[in-house]
Amino acid sequence: MNVLTVDVEDWWSSSVDLFSADGVQHGQQPHPSVVANTLRALDLFSETGNKGTFFFLGTVAESYPDLVRETIRRGHEVGCHSYAHRLVYNMTRAEFAVDTEKALTLLSKAGASKVLGYRAPYWSITGSSLWALDILRDMGFAYDSSIFPIRRGLYGLASAPRVPHRRAGLWEFPPATARVAGVNLPVAGGGYLRLLPYKLISVLIKRAGRDHHQTFYFHPYELDAEDVVVQKELRSVRSWLYYVQQLIGRGRNSEKIRRLMTENKFTSYESILPMLGES
Ligand SMILES: [Zn+2]
Repeated sequence: MNVLTVDVEDWWSSSVDLFSADGVQHGQQPHPSVVANTLRALDLFSETGNKGTFFFLGTVAESYPDLVRETIRRGHEVGCHSYAHRLVYNMTRAEFAVDTEKALTLLSKAGASKVLGYRAPYWSITGSSLWALDILRDMGFAYDSSIFPIRRGLYGLASAPRVPHRRAGLWEFPPATARVAGVNLPVAGGGYLRLLPYKLISVLIKRAGRDHHQTFYFHPYELDAEDVVVQKELRSVRSWLYYVQQLIGRGRNSEKIRRLMTENKFTSYESILPMLGES
């Protein structure tokens, strides 16, 4: 069974601010569009008969706690996507622990008292931040889904296994990749889903599905073609590049996600964990 995950964040505070030089914008209130877009995602799960894992940004739980409650009410799992969407490898161990604790407190206040899973902002558990797994385990998490088994500029650990595995006392669920000509190709979602033709994605997903429990993901804002607007001043060249990248393929993306959810069956990590045990 494949797992479909949603990183609940607005695209601006989660991604564009990522590249702000001083990081002062981290932790700001997410744009209200995250509420409508997450409700849209929840409706899509209901319409297609799927269950999923929703990794909430702490700032979203803080500003819109009813959204967490509604996600739980509809039978989905709630996971943690950090508090302020800072890259893990840019934090100290102490900062990471504080950020995660803050997110857990807010999730708990919003009704998610037992959070089992963590998804790092921008897959930022890499070779230089594997220490984060020890902290997550000590905090009581059962699994992590933050290590992308490819290497990209901002993230990835090319040597990591492509299938779920035990690491540092946790289950690690890597995002789906297809193995083509000896190379791991990302097919799991986000920008990859937006930019590649659906037919190619579909073939690659079937290929990826030969391994067990593959992880896919999207963001609520990817269901909303109108959401990409310059809300505030873009502060760096990198922010501009990300902004342009966000515009590509956005128009047809919600239809792609709907098709993916109609033609495949998805569930949450919570529901497959009992089958996996602890070894
Ligand atoms: Zn994110």
